[in-house]
Amino acid sequence: MNKIRILSDNLANQIAAGEVVERPASVIKELIENSIDAGATRISIDIELGGRRLMKISDNGEGMTRDDAILAFERHATSKIKEPEDLGRIGTLGFRGEALASIASVAKVELTTKIEDELAATLVQIEGGRLIDVRDAARPTGTTIAVRDLFFNTPARRKFMRSEATENYHLTSIVQHYALAHPEIAFTLTNNGREVLQVSPAKDLRERAFQVFGAGLLESLLPVRGGREFTATVSGYISAPRERRTNRDSQYFFVNRRFVRDKAIAGGLLEGYRSVLPHGVYPVAFLFVDVPLEEIDVNVHPAKTEVRFRRTEAVKEAIAEAVRNALASAGIVAHGEPVEEPVEERFVSTAAASTESPYFADQPKMYFDAGEPAPSEPALNIPAPVAVREDADAYFSYSPPIEEAFSVPPSQTDGSFEQFEENVPTPAAISADSVALPPMNSAERFAKPAEVAAVSGHAIRPIAQLHESFIIAVDDEGLLLVDQHVAHERILFDKYRARETGRETESQNLLLPETLDLTPAQSEAFQLIEDQLAELGFDVMKLSGRTIAIKSIPTDLPAAEAKNLLAEILDNIEVDKRGAAKSTLRDDIAASLACKAAVKINMKLTPEKMQWLIDKLLLTSSPTTCPHGRPVILRLTMKDIERGFHRT
Ligand code: ADP
Ligand code: MG
Repeated sequence: MNKIRILSDNLANQIAAGEVVERPASVIKELIENSIDAGATRISIDIELGGRRLMKISDNGEGMTRDDAILAFERHATSKIKEPEDLGRIGTLGFRGEALASIASVAKVELTTKIEDELAATLVQIEGGRLIDVRDAARPTGTTIAVRDLFFNTPARRKFMRSEATENYHLTSIVQHYALAHPEIAFTLTNNGREVLQVSPAKDLRERAFQVFGAGLLESLLPVRGGREFTATVSGYISAPRERRTNRDSQYFFVNRRFVRDKAIAGGLLEGYRSVLPHGVYPVAFLFVDVPLEEIDVNVHPAKTEVRFRRTEAVKEAIAEAVRNALASAGIVAHGEPVEEPVEERFVSTAAASTESPYFADQPKMYFDAGEPAPSEPALNIPAPVAVREDADAYFSYSPPIEEAFSVPPSQTDGSFEQFEENVPTPAAISADSVALPPMNSAERFAKPAEVAAVSGHAIRPIAQLHESFIIAVDDEGLLLVDQHVAHERILFDKYRARETGRETESQNLLLPETLDLTPAQSEAFQLIEDQLAELGFDVMKLSGRTIAIKSIPTDLPAAEAKNLLAEILDNIEVDKRGAAKSTLRDDIAASLACKAAVKINMKLTPEKMQWLIDKLLLTSSPTTCPHGRPVILRLTMKDIERGFHRT
């Protein structure tokens, strides 16, 4: 007896739904995309119970005729492509004709729609893929789709839904994505009747980002514009390195305005931040990548959130380059890292890219404001898609005794401090509370992280040390505050990296080799970075099993910390980075080393040391940003000071 049979349409739809409808947010994604494709300028979304009970979306798009409204739920029913050639040039968000059929097969759906030329609207009711009712209804031109009881007929899938809060998070995130991709469209999102997001049409991405995230984040966003014509043009915003996230949830990528999750884009973005952000810390980004339709295949994933670029590496490099340029323009990294330019491609000038991009109605120029703390939550009341890394300070909390930190021979002056003189003269201490001063205007508002161009080439003279942690200095432009720890960290980071590339290993022998028993994970990590460690000045011998002996360590490092330090580095190297570029690993290690070896806060510095630190700092690749993305120098210009005293 034959055993093969063709599945019923409904069963086929349910199977397809497994791929298209992963969770409530995927339903909302498909429905929003349909509304956008229908030319809507207003989209409102109502959610109940994390999308389980209800997801309703209304738009003022072109609507559907009665016949189309019924046909829309058939599998492979689409108005968006006609011929095989169309697949090679897809300009709409939808094209597979699967979404409505899939959704209707696993939920109770009610569609009401009206086109402009007809008086009556049509209501179509479908439950679990079965047409229940079609009748006249009333509504203005546009479409409303209510999806109730998702997965009511597929209990197994229903169980896979997460908590209401989790599903809400994903729902909100999707709406946020599309709100950012389409500033010209008004969006409203309510959750259990409570308004979560409400944005009116905005003139550009910047204004939309302000509507969605508020002023706090906006101020640390840097405009990106660039890329390469014929490969990928890039526009949008990225965050200054001080804005850190522990995951990629605050990275919004769009390819030809389609929301995607894409490794090449994420990789290019991180590559652009190399040396100002460590591994495991992610920038905020709104990146719009525009590629010629024939350079991309959007039909590689049922949910259409993945795309395939014809030239992935070129796209990645175009993005990295645009990001680097944005950071350089903001004075965060030095300009002029030579970029290889393939001959057949022309670099897209700022002007060219900005006219192509719909996201820059005006030319935003944003400044840092040291007074504005990084928002720990978005302005929206949503579960922290932009949570700030809380453990960042752990990097800076370790402080060995002074003797250990500086047990380096005085001859090594290219990055290390000599032994400190203990009897540094200090100004007579004045007790602050003994003098009653009027309240001061917070200078926070005026002091800004310095830009590279604003500090290099100036003679900077240290005046004093504040709280044994910050150097107060002056130059022609005004007052500067230098964070001594991060300044030294930057110097050492550059030094370690240069040393690695230059291969002139400098290390100090330990009096007695230190043995260390590695955990299995550490041992894995050790295999991975053995070479880089050697290049950086670690001489490590493998003993039996997972035991190693440390014979020498890089200069500058406190010898007593050799063991802990190595263990820490190994813990921080994730084994999933096995495939990571050597340069990334090297940067990670260099950043850890620099942090450990750098002078701590709460440590007295002589005027000579302060001057040395500043001079060295100015020679580094990025004097104003530490390898972990923090500002190194705050600046108060004469103008700011005069403004503060109301002299202007
Ligand atoms: P696709 O978007 O891939 O074409 P869908 O199943 O999402 O497939 O939708 C099927 C068709 O229904 C669309 O091609 C479109 O013609 C129509 N449609 C769906 N939603 C709307 C809407 N909100 N407004 C107007 N037409 C719509
Ligand atoms: Mg669709």
